[in-house]
Amino acid sequence: MKLSPEASALLSKAASGERLNHAEITALYGLPLPEVAAVAHHLRLQRSAPDTVTFLIDRNINYTNICNVGCNFCAFYRTKRQSDSYTHDYATISAKITELEQVGGSRILMQGGVNPELPLEYYTGLLQHIKEHHPSIRIEAFSPEEVLFMEKNFGLDLDSLLDVLITAGLDGLPGAGGEILEDDVRKKAAPARIGSHDWFRILDAAQRKGLYTISTMVIGFGETVEQRASHLIKIRDQQDKALREYNNGFAGFAMWSLQTEHTRLHGKAPGASAHEYLQQLAISRIALDNQPNIQASWPGQGFKVAQASLYYGASDLGSTMLEENVVSAAGGHHRHNATVRELVRIAHDAGFKAAIRNSHFQILSYPDVNALLNINAQLTISQGAELEETRAVR
Ligand code: SF4
Repeated sequence: MKLSPEASALLSKAASGERLNHAEITALYGLPLPEVAAVAHHLRLQRSAPDTVTFLIDRNINYTNICNVGCNFCAFYRTKRQSDSYTHDYATISAKITELEQVGGSRILMQGGVNPELPLEYYTGLLQHIKEHHPSIRIEAFSPEEVLFMEKNFGLDLDSLLDVLITAGLDGLPGAGGEILEDDVRKKAAPARIGSHDWFRILDAAQRKGLYTISTMVIGFGETVEQRASHLIKIRDQQDKALREYNNGFAGFAMWSLQTEHTRLHGKAPGASAHEYLQQLAISRIALDNQPNIQASWPGQGFKVAQASLYYGASDLGSTMLEENVVSAAGGHHRHNATVRELVRIAHDAGFKAAIRNSHFQILSYPDVNALLNINAQLTISQGAELEETRAVR
């Protein structure tokens, strides 16, 4: 397909690394994906270690599934009267972290529903308990939605609340709940959901206080490409500000596609195909010129599309996620946890060196690929077997 002079000029500008404006980012959605992907991969090779694909060994922990926000796209939350609702005690959470420690994990991503019955002391006590019993584990916890709830319920302003949580042991505030940071889209998908202003206000305060954060995006709500471009520009602007004023921006960018099974949006939101996902990933790499670390989403797209993502702008495979409950509750037909071996295989077979990183995308070690890929064992799907396999290769 022959490109118009305007399209060629836009791709050349993008490949040069020059910043694109909203109209230019929006125009990328109308160009052939292979051409856009080639530019994205070119920029990925320049902006992150060209021969390396990173990932983290971690565990998601959901301390409660009770939530009073009731997002239409969520299949994870329960009301407290439902028989399968839960709030974990500290010992249960500690046992999960011990399993993570046994496989060399370095962080937990701990989030829950917005459970109106939990007092501030539950959160601070939990952080203190984890730091006391698992001092080497980083705690990245509480989405902006949970922080907003705490702010309203516990009579503390945001700065004071974050100070209390940091003193208790909080290391980072994941940027979950970004979805599409355009309030028209958010109101339709989840009327009671945190608005974009509060999402940025809370992440900005976290960055100012030196906490780890990442930026996120979910596509498939029926948003327009203009709204997707706006989302990317808002994230980019915040990154500029955080790097300039706090020297502490988003450590990475994670994007995945909406899963709607068992949710009220099932059949109402279009979701996103693999093609659309790869297109969005490539455009994100081009637009986010101040973000070197862009993740592929294997839980949302499967291992094969995640491997292809490494040529569409992604430089990172996220994490092993020994436990994942939120995306998996809304269906999706892909695995929701991975072994070290599987992530190494994805990177190695695509022509990259796999590296285990920490939360800040600093490389901790390079797994022994020969030992790993010579293991005479079948890939496994049970968690116990995964733990054994992961132990064997470290
Ligand atoms: S997405 Fe989060 S805030 Fe929304 S209903 Fe689910 S648990 Fe609650």
